[in-house]
Parts: sequence; structure tokens; C-alpha cells
Amino acid sequence: MPDTQNTIMNQSEQRELRYEPASIEEKWAARWSADPAMYAAESHQSRLPKYYVLEMLPYPSGVLHMGHVRNYAIGDALARHMWMRGYNVLHPMGWDAFGLPAENAAIKNNVPPREWTLRNIAQMKVQMARLGFSYDWSTEVTTCLPDYYRWNQWFFLKFWEQGLAYKRKSKLNWCPECATVLANEQVVNGCCWRHEETVVEQREMEQWFLRITKYADELLDGIEKLEGWPDKVRTMQRNWIGRSVGVMVDFALDGEVGAAGGKITVFTTRIDTIYGATSILLAPEHAMVADFTANDGHLSAKVQGLIREQAKAREAGDIGGIEKHGVFTGRYAVNPFSQEKIPIWVANYILADYGTGAIMSVPAHDDRDYEFAKKYDLEIRIVVLPRRTGEAPTEHNHHASEPLLPYTEKESLLINSGEYNGLANDDAIEKMAAHAERQGFGKKTVTYRLKDWGVSRQRYWGTPIPMIYCGKCGIVPVPESQLPVLLPENVNITQQGGSPLSRVPEFVNVKCPKCGGAARRETDTMDTFVDSSWYFYRYTSPKLDDRALDTNAVGYWFPIDQYIGGVEHAILHLIYSRFWTKFMRDLGIVKNAEPAERLFTQGMVIKDGAKMSKNKGNVVSPDDMVAKFGADSTRAYSLFATSPDRELDWQETGVEGVHRFLSRAYRFVMRNAEAARRADGKSSAQELPPRVRAVQRKLHQTIQRVTEDFKGRWHFNTSVAAIMELVNDLYGTEDEIAAGKFPPALLADVLRRLVLLLAPFAPYLAAELWETLGEKGGILRHPWPEFDPALAKEDEIEYAVQVNGKLRGRVVMPADTAQPDVRAKALADEKVRVALDGKEVVKVIVIPGKLVNVVVK
Ligand SMILES: [Zn+2]
Ligand SMILES: [Zn+2]
Repeated sequence: MPDTQNTIMNQSEQRELRYEPASIEEKWAARWSADPAMYAAESHQSRLPKYYVLEMLPYPSGVLHMGHVRNYAIGDALARHMWMRGYNVLHPMGWDAFGLPAENAAIKNNVPPREWTLRNIAQMKVQMARLGFSYDWSTEVTTCLPDYYRWNQWFFLKFWEQGLAYKRKSKLNWCPECATVLANEQVVNGCCWRHEETVVEQREMEQWFLRITKYADELLDGIEKLEGWPDKVRTMQRNWIGRSVGVMVDFALDGEVGAAGGKITVFTTRIDTIYGATSILLAPEHAMVADFTANDGHLSAKVQGLIREQAKAREAGDIGGIEKHGVFTGRYAVNPFSQEKIPIWVANYILADYGTGAIMSVPAHDDRDYEFAKKYDLEIRIVVLPRRTGEAPTEHNHHASEPLLPYTEKESLLINSGEYNGLANDDAIEKMAAHAERQGFGKKTVTYRLKDWGVSRQRYWGTPIPMIYCGKCGIVPVPESQLPVLLPENVNITQQGGSPLSRVPEFVNVKCPKCGGAARRETDTMDTFVDSSWYFYRYTSPKLDDRALDTNAVGYWFPIDQYIGGVEHAILHLIYSRFWTKFMRDLGIVKNAEPAERLFTQGMVIKDGAKMSKNKGNVVSPDDMVAKFGADSTRAYSLFATSPDRELDWQETGVEGVHRFLSRAYRFVMRNAEAARRADGKSSAQELPPRVRAVQRKLHQTIQRVTEDFKGRWHFNTSVAAIMELVNDLYGTEDEIAAGKFPPALLADVLRRLVLLLAPFAPYLAAELWETLGEKGGILRHPWPEFDPALAKEDEIEYAVQVNGKLRGRVVMPADTAQPDVRAKALADEKVRVALDGKEVVKVIVIPGKLVNVVVK
């Protein structure tokens, strides 16, 4: 109907056509919440193909932020699309409910953490329901409840039985703000992962570790197969695991034998350069340094200075950029290959917790050693030369090819290296390592940057570690039959004086399960990353009370088909959960070796170029957006504004634009719904007017495009843009509709398919329009629209015509024009003929469907 007719519509009709998301969305939200089974998956015995789509579970802070909305809108669109494609979809949600904020809120507001957490969960569920997310709440998992965390405890006992949980005293990362230790993965640039401005301190403490390093190789090798994961995440994991292959070599101390055994062990990946080692460098906190400084106040003071410098650089998160300082100890070590005596120094850039805390310094072939040697005037001796094909170095020619120092390339040949002269470096590494092993002063070794996972936390709101200390029996695990070890309530929580549980006598004092004597419980709780390491398995059978999971259900649903979350978890959660999966596989309770087949990391939502934060006052509240523009517009905007892997700078005008588009779609369907309902479904063979044919073509092209996008490209921004163009083209046919030239059956078909296309992005609007079109069943499981390639094909194509690469004309011709005719038509174009005048055509290149390039002399 042409717009002019709006003027003759009465008031009530006008009102009917206004898109009012609040009333539509509230109506459908009420219907949907009355039918909680609508998003439920069929059991694992289903014959349907399965699809497990998962968004990372949130911490229940009490309020959703835009980052959540974006993350969930992506997962929700995908889940809805897969339902329409006929899959048995599992789309669960849960709560990463243990952790510090609840405890801090308890201290501040005097609310017990459990109450605070459960209240927040209830609030966030209301927000999620209002946004229309399609979660199956019957599988909800809340990690702070005993029916979940008892299985954390069960897994801990299994780790203990397998020798993969152990207690050890060591230097640990301590966040003063959190008042607890942190795992290495939770220290980011020297600061706490939760408190980006709080410098992490080092404290010597005893705590529990999980032996993740047992799986270091498998975690590394597995990355190769994770082709559905973003490259950046795979690279981050590879670097974090940090495998390097080398040799441990012992340098004997020259002279008297010290308490540390009379030798210094270094780790090197370049044993081929050992003849170029001109000093040994020790970390200031290397055990042997204490021996050297014991009776030397001057040296001791110098070393203390180096320790301080290193600590400062660590705090600044820039140990690589430290200004290098060192001090000579007055001692010497013996190079086991050359028997040469070389000086032992202490240097501030050598870390005690990396490798062995000692290195052989080869200044000619290492950047940092070179810088250090230059500063302290230590000898720099070239022992490898760039390798040239077929050339062995001799006394006479090696000066000619002397490299620029430091020369660190591995493609090299040895010189100044005794019997190894002339060997290529890879060959030399093999032979020298074998020699060292035979002589008993060396060992081939693989080292990792990855360290065991420290899981003890000195806080209250976490899973109690199920261990008991008995004076007679030592460490005794809590028997499985006594799980769960319940977290006591009404605990006086403060951040002072260590673990809050240690001040609860009725928790601490326990009978030893072995001897029955008086014993005490472990009072540390588990790192909350334990909770998230396996939660997604629990979704497949959340109510089981005799096992953590049902192996058959996991076998059907796993691996997760698509996991979606923030890239900030690339190392933390995603490495822990891969580890946990491998452990579960070794226990025989799951068969998959990796948790997720595909991973998608969405970009951050920012505002005015900066991260949203209360301090900056630039937080956009999802509730406000929903109140102003509706849930559909808010969600669709978060998908539409840019491609989902990019940062999204939130613009209210953008949400308004999406709202306008949805209004237009709504009005058009509403105006024509009556005609569409009356259409008899018979398609007529009549010739379509050009604009109607254009709409038909656009429809099929759009279906093709959106369908392709869901297969993995996920450029929903272009999908939604394509749907917008379709709606525009539809408005362009109002005259044809008014004149009865748009066949009603075709119009009905276009409208139905348009609504189906909208369903994953704007589910409320789609449900409303679907019903208005007279459709009976729900849209959620209605088959996704197919496209017809023949109808999607362009009738005519415009060719750009270039002469020597310069655009000279444009020629429109039928899409099925044969190549020789394309060429002839291009050359016949008036403007092209002018450009060709007086020149000789050498070649004509036709790129079908796009371009004709004429090469002339
Ligand atoms: Zn902290
Ligand atoms: Zn005992």
C-alpha cells in the first residue's frame, strides 16, 4: 500500500502499526516463561544430530553488562539457527558462583556470601529472561552449591590417588588485595588478574598443587588439532606451555666443594656454543649464592641490591627490559668440554624460578649475554659461523665470514670448538649432548614454562579441600562416603589472619578417618578456576547424585560444538579445562580428549574508545537499552554493529538505527499480513514485474548469505545488513502490491521467509510476526528457509571495462552471456572505443561476472 494511503487510515489502524517492542516482548516473555520445556534438549538417546552451543558461564555479580549481552546474543542466535536446522540443541547456562566479590560484599554489607550470591543469580535470571535468551534452565549449574562442589572434592581425591595432587612449600604469588595466593596464570603483567593495579608479591607458603605439567606435552600437541580455535588463542597457549628442548650441563666448581654439591647445573638449548661460554651467571636467589656470600659482607650487600632490582622489574612486569647489573663472586667453574676455568657472576636478569636459575653465558651468540659482557668487559668468543652450502670453515677462511655480533642464528658451523670444529650446529648438538650423557655431566632435558597449578586459596567462599591432617597418620584424604565436606555457614569473615575456616573449631576439629584420633581439616579452599574447569560436563546430567557425570550422556554431547567467550580466558580457564578433560579421560569417565571442537572469542564492548567502567562513568546498562529500544534491537545491534570478533564501540544512535529497521520490517509485514494470510499458496506462472523479481532474487540471495554466515564466518553484521536491504527492496514494491501485480502467494512466501531469517536475531519480533502471518506452530523449531540458486541468480550483470588497467566504461548484459560475446560487447562500448582509438589490442582478459581488461600497445 502506497504511503499516501496512510492519511486515510483511521487512528486505531495507525496505532496498530506502530512497533512497540515493550508490549510485544513482554507478551512473549510471559508465554515463554510459562513453557520452561521449550528450550529443553532431547536426551542423549535422541536420534537427532546433536549440537552443543555454550557461552562461558558468568560470575553472578548481580547485573549483566554489555559484554555478557554480546556474548550471549551470539550464542543465542546460533542456538536458534541450529534448532531451525533440525538439531537437538543443548544450550545451557549456569553460575560461576564461588569467588572473592561475594566474600568482599559479605565483609562490607554484612550479608552472608551464599545469600548475596543466590540473590544476584535471581536478578540476573530476570535480566536474561527479559533479553529473551533461550536457555534450558532445567540443566542449570550453580557451582557454590554442595550438589556441584562435592564433585570438585571428588575430583580432588582422584587427583590425590593418582599422585597428581600434592602439597609443597614454595615461593608463591600473593595478592594483598585478594589476601590470597594466585596461580601463575592469574598474574598478568606482574599484577593480579582481578586487580589490574595491584602488584603481586612473593611469599613463601605451603599449598596444594595439581600436576598439570604431567600433561604439558599433550596439551601442547593437542593445540595442533584444535583447528576450530582462533590462532591467537592457540599461540598464547603454546607460548604459555613454553616447551624447550635442551641439555642440563654440570659445571664443577673450581677449588673447594660448597654445600650445594660442588657443581652448578645450567640448562641450555645451545650446547653447540659451549666452547664460547666465558662465564657462569647465577640468579641472585640461586642456592649457591648464599654459600658464596656467607662470609662476604661486601658481596652479600651487592647481591641484595640485585635482588631488589629484580623484584622491582618483576613488579613493573618488565623483567625483559631490566637494566642488566651483576657482580663477580671471585669463584670459578670448569667448562666440562674445554676444561677451561671461567668466572662465576651473579646477574639481576637471571631468574631463580626459570630453568635451573643458572646459565652459561655465551656473549657472542646471545643478545642478553652480549649486552652483559660488553658492560663488564667479559670475553666474547665466536664459536659458530654462518653456514654456507658446502663450505667448512678453515683457519684461513673463517675471518672472511665473521658474523655481526651477537650472531644467534641456528644455521651455523662450529669453530674454536675442539674436536667438534666443522660440524653443523644441529649435528653438534646431538653429538655434544650424547658426549655429556656418556661422561655423566649432562642430560638431555625438556623444560616448560608451564608450572603446576597452585589451587589453595586462603579465603572462605570456595570449595573446601577434602584433606585431613593427623599427627600420627600424616595427610589423610576424606573418605568418598563423607563427601561433601560442607562449607560452614555463619563464619566470621575478615581478610586478616589467614583462612577464615581456620577460625571455625567445629569445622577444623575432626576425627582422623584412619586412626580415629584427633585431627584437623585443611582450611584452604580451592581456586574458583577449579569450578569452571569441568562445569560444562555437569550440564549434561546436572541432577546426578551418585556420580559427577553420566559417561553416555557426555559421549553423545561432547565435544562442545561451539564454545563462545572472552579472549581473556585464553590461558586461564581454557588451559585448566583442557587439562581437566585429559584427566577425566584417563579416569575413564569421558572419551573425548578436548572439551570443545570450536572456540569463538568475541571482541570487547567499549564506549567512547575506552573500556566501560564505573570510574569512567561510561557504563551502558542493558536494562536501559531494553527499556528504550527493546531487547531485540539491543541484541541485534550488538551483532550488527561490527563483526563479532572485533571490539564494539557502543553507539546509542546505532541501536536506534536497528530499532528503526525492525520497525520498518514490522510495519511492512503487518500491512501485508492480511493479504498473505488470504493467499491460496498457488504460485502463478505470470511474468514478474522487474521490482518484484528483484525482491525475489534478493530474498534468495539473502537466505544464501545468512545460511553461509552461520556455518562459521559469523559476520552477522553483513547478514543483518542483507536483511535490511531486503526490507528496503520490499518497500520499493508497494506500487506493485497496490496494483495487484505482486502475486499474493509470492508475497506470502517472501514475508514468511523474511520472518524466519529474523528469528535468530530478533526472536520476539519474529514470534509476533509469525503468529500474525497465521502460522500455527512456534517458530523456534520451524525449518530454516532454503534458497533456490536459480532464483538467487542475477538476470543481468554489469561488467567494468578497463583499458590497460584504467576504468573506461561499464556494460550491462544478461548474466548468461557467453565469454566471446562479453568481449565483443565490451569492445563495442562507445567510451571504450574512444579509449582504444588508434591503439593495437594485444589481449582481452575476461573475469566472468566482473571485469573485462583490454591490454593495448
Ligand atoms: Zn587480587
Ligand atoms: Zn590418624
